[in-house]
Order: sequence, then C-alpha cells, then structure tokens
Amino acid sequence: MDIHEYQAKEILARFGVPIPRGGLAYSPEQASYRCTEIGGSAWVVKAQIHAGGRGEAGGVQLCHSDCAVQDAATSMFGRRLVTRQSAPRGKLIYRVYVEEATDIARELYFGIVLDRRIERVCIITSTEGGVEIEELAAAKPEALVRTTIDPAAGFLEFQGREIAFALGLQPAQIAEAGRIFRRAYRAFRDLDATMLEINPLAVTDKGDLVALDAKMSFDDNALFRHPDISELRDRSQEDARESHAADRGLAYVGLEGDIGCMINGAGLAMATMDMIKFAGGEPANFLDIGGGASPQRVLKAFRAVLQDTNVRAMLINIFAGINRCDWVAAGIVAAFKEIDVKIPVVVRLAGTHVEQGQRILRDSGLPIITADTLAEAAHKAVAVVGTVGASA
Ligand code: GDP
Ligand code: MN
Repeated sequence: MDIHEYQAKEILARFGVPIPRGGLAYSPEQASYRCTEIGGSAWVVKAQIHAGGRGEAGGVQLCHSDCAVQDAATSMFGRRLVTRQSAPRGKLIYRVYVEEATDIARELYFGIVLDRRIERVCIITSTEGGVEIEELAAAKPEALVRTTIDPAAGFLEFQGREIAFALGLQPAQIAEAGRIFRRAYRAFRDLDATMLEINPLAVTDKGDLVALDAKMSFDDNALFRHPDISELRDRSQEDARESHAADRGLAYVGLEGDIGCMINGAGLAMATMDMIKFAGGEPANFLDIGGGASPQRVLKAFRAVLQDTNVRAMLINIFAGINRCDWVAAGIVAAFKEIDVKIPVVVRLAGTHVEQGQRILRDSGLPIITADTLAEAAHKAVAVVGTVGASA
C-alpha cells in the first residue's frame, strides 16, 4: 500500500527525521491560509498523488506570495496529474501540501528497499538526488552507494558514517546524517515498510539536512499489525478496477489493453497474456480465479473484468486440475443470465470434466466462441477485437 508524501513526512517526523514546516489543504483558500500559518516569504505547493515525477509535470510549484500559492493550488485541484510514474490516465489531485520553501545547496538521494535477491534490507544513496533513481541506476550505476543491513545486527553507527562520507558531507554534518539515516531505517523496520524514499534529501544553504520529499510503501500482509497505517489508504489513488476485485478476494491487476482475461492459475494467466501479445493483441488485465472456482466466483470474476470499460472482448482460459470445467461453464452461463454481456467471449476449457463443461456451453445456446488450445483462443480473441474495432 502506498501513502501520500505528507503522510510519509508525518511518519518520518515522528521518528525524528527533520522535514520542512508545512500544512495540508483541500481548497485553494485553505492553501493560501497555510502561508500565514507557516510564515516566511516563499512556499512550495505540492500536489498529493501516489506517484513521483510531479516536479516536471507541474505538480510542484515554488511561489512567492499567498496569491501565487492560491493560483498554483487552483491550477492543481480537480486535475488528473500525469507523470512519468503514474498510469497514462493520471492521478486525481484533491489535496495539496504547502511547505515553507527551502534554499537548497545540494540534493541527495536516500532510499531503503527490500532486496529480495539477497534477502536483506538495503539502503541506497547517491550524491545525485532529485532525479529518478531508475534513470540514475541505468545511466550512472557507479553513482549509487549500496549498504546492506544485517537483520540480526540492525543498522550500525559505522554504516551511517560510511554513507555520510560517501555522500561528501562535512565533518560537522556526519553525526546528524547518521541519526537521520538510523531514524529513517527504524521507521521502515518498525512499520513493515517495503520502500522508503527521501528524494531529495536536501542539504540547505545553512548546511542542515532536511527531507524535502518522502515516499513510503507498506507490506499489505503486515497492515493488520498497523491499524493507524491502514487508515492512510487513499482509494482515490488506487486503480478502481483493482479495488473492486480486491474487495471480492480476486487476484486482479489492471492493464491498459482491451482483451479482458479470466484464467485459473497465475502461471497460466501469465502465459495467456503472453499469447495474446504474441497474437498481436493487448490484455486488459491479469486475473487468476484460482483452483476450485465455484460458479459464484466465476460470476464475480466476470463483473470484475467488465468493470473495465476498455474491455472489448473476453478470453476465458481454464485448465482444470483441482478446478472443474463444468463449474466454470455453469458460472459463465450464470454470468450471461445476470449481466448484460455485450462483448464477444472466447472460452477455452481443458482438463477435469471438460466434456460436461463443453456440453453446458453448447446447450446454453449463448453466442460463446470456443477454442481447443490456448493459441487458438488468443488468436480468436484478437481477431474478434479487430472486427469489433472496425465496426465501432
Ligand atoms: P517529485 O518530482 O514528485 O519527486 O517531487 P519533489 O518533492 O521531489 O520535488 C521535485 C523538485 O522540486 C525537487 O527535486 C527540488 O529540486 C524542487 N523542490 C521541491 N521543494 C523545493 C523547495 O522547497 N525549494 C526549492 N528551491 N526547490 C524545491
Ligand atoms: Mn522527489
């Protein structure tokens, strides 16, 4: 689960990491009022969305009067901000964060991630902050400094000093930097985070260190231990299709294509998406209905796939082991009764009770396109989307 910048900053501040003074606003008027509260003569207005890269997309604006703050906020509210990290449809801005502007001398990168390959928490830092870490890693991998944390020993003081030296910090800043790194690490560890990023970690003109931007993601499977973190969930920032499916216990991931998929088994679902691409189409989603899918579950899955208005054809691919083709077929027939299915549906059944399943589909008299193999199903789905597209 992701949270907003201002929420991540509140958490970091609670752990003792310095952040600029700031306040949240739900309207342009409230944003300009925050200037008076915060004081000073320059402020930064920051769109709160679950995606980075806001700066270059106009979601971070430096202002020198409360009127300018109000105007900047007006230009943001209600807009969907499209950034390099957001989905193409962008993310809705309905809160902005107003902060006192910081005079930046240097922008550093500080991130904590879980490195699954070495099964350790890993701290990544760089003197070249402000830019996206993925780009930096590709263009200049030598600019990244990686520090691995031993889970038994935790984050050690010498590691903090080592990172501080690598970042070229002055002797007077080393102790403070070490404290900041350790506190950020504690926030990551204590709250079961999977990612924490401070980019930039700014060195101010006065030589102080401050977290100018903050991002945190949490392990969904550990949220039950952190009810206060769970409360920070912002559904408006999540893919509506994925929230719908998650509420119904379905393993669904939204994609950008137009062929809706309903598959049993994650591996088969991946293979099916590959086959759709190979046949020249684009999958609209990943969806694994799992083994032992009851007709009710198939119906739920139908609804989840059809939530997506981009879907112009559906591909159902079932290889029944634990599952039963007759159950799935009954679910498909029930779905056609309950839902007004306006798009072509291609079904490929194989495995347990396949004859019964195919008979149910045949006897239903429904306009279902059947296929015997995965390749055939994918080609038929792609072909049918082509004709739907041509007639639309
Ligand atoms: P992101 O683009 O979504 O990562 O948003 P950031 O919060 O990282 O802001 C993008 C960039 O705006 C930063 O890298 C800074 O260069 C700049 N910026 C943000 N806050 C301030 C500030 O208080 N003062 C100044 N001078 N620049 C800032
Ligand atoms: Mn940033």
